[in-house]
Amino acid sequence: MISLSDLPYGYDALEPCISERTLRLHHRKHHAAYVDKTNELIEGTRFADADLETIVRETCGDSGNAKLFNQAAQAWNHDFYWRSLSPDGGGKPDGEVGDLISDSFGGFHDFRDALIEKAVGHFASGWAWLTYDGGALKVTDTPDAVPPFCGGADVPLLVIDVWEHAYYLDYQNVRPDHVKAVVDELLDWEFAEANLRAARR
Ligand code: FE
Repeated sequence: MISLSDLPYGYDALEPCISERTLRLHHRKHHAAYVDKTNELIEGTRFADADLETIVRETCGDSGNAKLFNQAAQAWNHDFYWRSLSPDGGGKPDGEVGDLISDSFGGFHDFRDALIEKAVGHFASGWAWLTYDGGALKVTDTPDAVPPFCGGADVPLLVIDVWEHAYYLDYQNVRPDHVKAVVDELLDWEFAEANLRAARR
């Protein structure tokens, strides 16, 4: 059994970038449904007592477990997404992430442009990530439920959910305004720094 993680902040904490209504629906309906469906699908299988990340890694690319992969990966991605955001987030990072952004992208503004372009340009549902590939940072996008370590060695540092359910109530079809608000006001650089340090250990 896996469980629905609590948000690391209140439902109204990300206002005005993400409304309380959107956050409640996103967490208690969308995320909760992925958790519930994962639990239905693992019951009585070898994954019944596995942790969520193990389920995702072991079903990635396995066509016989595609249904389970999609639900479990969405549950994992949402756990990671909530922790990628903070009411005290946004701005320009310092620390190892800040240094590596300068090395990898030439500067923060080029990085910001690249991440926004990737998130806005992703066709249909998916995710836009900042990842670490063993030497450098990069921005990447994945379709549907796929996390960046599926089929690759990329370590995720931050993610933006670009499924319409993440922003439609607040921004309707204007994904660019949502993405810019998330990047400029909410990205949790302390979470990215902790993920980078763990990857480099
Ligand atoms: Fe979502």
